Amino acid sequence: MAIDPRHAAYLDALGVDVYVRRELPARAPESGRTTGGQPVEAVPGPAPGEAAGLDWSALRERVAACTRCELHSTRTQTVFGVGSPTARWMFIGEAPGAEEDRQGEPFVGRAGQLLTSMLKALGFAREDVYITNVLKCRPPGNRDPRPEEARCCREYLERQIELVAPTLIVAIGRIAAQNLLGTDMPLAKLRGTVHALGPGRRPVLVTYHPAYLLRSPGEKRKAWQDLLLARAIFGRLERGESVLP
Ligand code: SF4
Repeated sequence: MAIDPRHAAYLDALGVDVYVRRELPARAPESGRTTGGQPVEAVPGPAPGEAAGLDWSALRERVAACTRCELHSTRTQTVFGVGSPTARWMFIGEAPGAEEDRQGEPFVGRAGQLLTSMLKALGFAREDVYITNVLKCRPPGNRDPRPEEARCCREYLERQIELVAPTLIVAIGRIAAQNLLGTDMPLAKLRGTVHALGPGRRPVLVTYHPAYLLRSPGEKRKAWQDLLLARAIFGRLERGESVLP
C-alpha cells in the first residue's frame, strides 16, 4: 500500500517502511468468527452508577473532585481525557504518567509523542480522536493500576464511552486492554481480534502501549499492523458491514 508522502516522517517514527504490505481482513463469516479466525469475545458491560446520565461538564467536575480511591491523595490533578467529544475513534490507555499528571492531559510525554505520530500516520490529529485512560489519576511511581482502583474509576470511563459513542475503540497496551475487556489474556492473544464491549457490543481492538514500543522498538512494526487492521475494520464499520457475529 502506498503511503501519502506527508506521513513518511510519522511512519519513520514508528520504524515502518514507506510501503507496507497488508492483509485485508476477511469478512466475518457466518460461524461467528472474525479477523484472523479468532472468536469474537463478549465482555462485561457498564454497571449503572453515579456517573450515569452526567453530561461532559458534570462528568469532568465529578472526576476532578473524586476521592474514591487512594490515588486522589498523590495526584497533582486528575487527567480526564482530550479530543473530540464526538470522535469516531477512541483510544484508551492505562493511567497518567508523571508528565500527564503535571499537565492534566493524557499521553503528553515521550510515549504520548509516539502515540501522536501513530495517529498522524493514520491521518489523524489528536483533536480528531478521543484519548483517555482507564484511571484518571496517576499511580505513584508509575506502578500498575490496582484492580480496586480500576473498579472505582470504571464508571467514569464507561460514561465517557457512552458520551463519545465511538465507532471503534483501540485499547492501548496490556493493562488497558485487560481492564477494559475484563480478561487476563496476554496482549499477544488479544491483538488481531475484534472484541465486543458491553451490551452495545462496541468493537474494540488492542495494540501495544507506545511506552513499550519505546523500550522495544522492534515491535513497532506489529503496532503498525494493528493500526492498519484498525483502519480496515473501521472502514468496514463505516460501510455498514458487520465485523461482529
Ligand atoms: S483514579 Fe479514578 S476513582 Fe481513583 S481517585 Fe482518581 S478519579 Fe477517583
